Amino acid sequence: MNKLTRKIKVRDLEIGGDAPVSVQSMCATHTQDIAATLEQIASLEKKGADLIRIAVDNKSDVEALKEIRRQTKARLVVDLQENFPLAEIVAPFVDKIRYNPGHLHHLEKDTPIEKKVAWLVNIAKTHGNALRIGVNCGSVAPDFLKKYEGNHVRAIVESAAWHCELLDKLHFSNYVVSLKDSDPKKVVTCNKEFSKRRPDVPIHLGVTEAGLLPDGVIKTRIAFEQLIPLGIGDTIRVSLTLPNAEKSEEITWGRQILKDIAEKRFVSVPDFGKGLNIISCPSCSRVENGDFVKLAMEVKAMTSYAKAHQFTIAVMGCRVNGPGETDDADLGVWCGPTTVTLKKKAESIGSFRYHEVLPVLKQELDFLIASKKV
Ligand code: SF4
Repeated sequence: MNKLTRKIKVRDLEIGGDAPVSVQSMCATHTQDIAATLEQIASLEKKGADLIRIAVDNKSDVEALKEIRRQTKARLVVDLQENFPLAEIVAPFVDKIRYNPGHLHHLEKDTPIEKKVAWLVNIAKTHGNALRIGVNCGSVAPDFLKKYEGNHVRAIVESAAWHCELLDKLHFSNYVVSLKDSDPKKVVTCNKEFSKRRPDVPIHLGVTEAGLLPDGVIKTRIAFEQLIPLGIGDTIRVSLTLPNAEKSEEITWGRQILKDIAEKRFVSVPDFGKGLNIISCPSCSRVENGDFVKLAMEVKAMTSYAKAHQFTIAVMGCRVNGPGETDDADLGVWCGPTTVTLKKKAESIGSFRYHEVLPVLKQELDFLIASKKV
């Protein structure tokens, strides 16, 4: 299948056009734990990671990143969420910068988004960085949500397309776009729609918060198997909730899925998506309590009695993206340093200590099941 996307470069790595689909992952260690982060980078590289993303949220993270850069030759991507003003000081140490269009409005509220993006582009041009416009289902820019109220897919696609046009006007073409959702069907729709709009722009493909094994891989396969054979997807990430020691499995799975698709081995899971859906984030440097992965596993085990019920439960690792990413779930928990906040859709039910939250979650799930029967 001939791809129409243009080829961009992340240092020496080509993405798009006839370049092989590259595989990436993200460190789940604390960025300031330099030794642990370097160890995880090495294990991801060993499995064949083409690009490795690191979260940076403050100046101490940047200092750590500087040292990490000194000690590894891996291609590094920095993930900036609300703290996009850090771009200027991280750019010299990375090959690519991801910004989230849905998080640009939080800081420097009086500066127009166009001006903030122009500033980011200028930094990328100065330091030879590639950019990723990373749109996420749980943090779509409010202006687009308002304009396309009731049509979430359209809001995601329009936000991505708007940013592409802006980068084009700024004469910057070394960028990719991602349109991620936790629902593989929405990932397929969003990426097909975007690809029709902008067949020239390389796509970073992923199902966000795909969760624990084996469901996380199944959800990812559902999306990738429908998109990659159409030539949609130039670089991929399989986002799995895994203990830190097993993080490099994301790369193993990514390579396996690509191989299976190339050899036309597709998994058919006709009933998948029916019944209880547990979504959980893959964790990153922003996790403030290492018990997050254990909690995700416990939630899955505890709720197994309800697996026939069509509800979504979200388990998120931090307070940066957790509150937004749990809004659409029937029940959600997001993890802070010592407590876990339990939510029903966008409404907060309360904060509980890690060992106290499961019984309350069960109670809420029982209420939901009972209310469905009425
Ligand atoms: S929800 Fe938070 S901890 Fe989880 S991957 Fe996203 S930013 Fe990282």
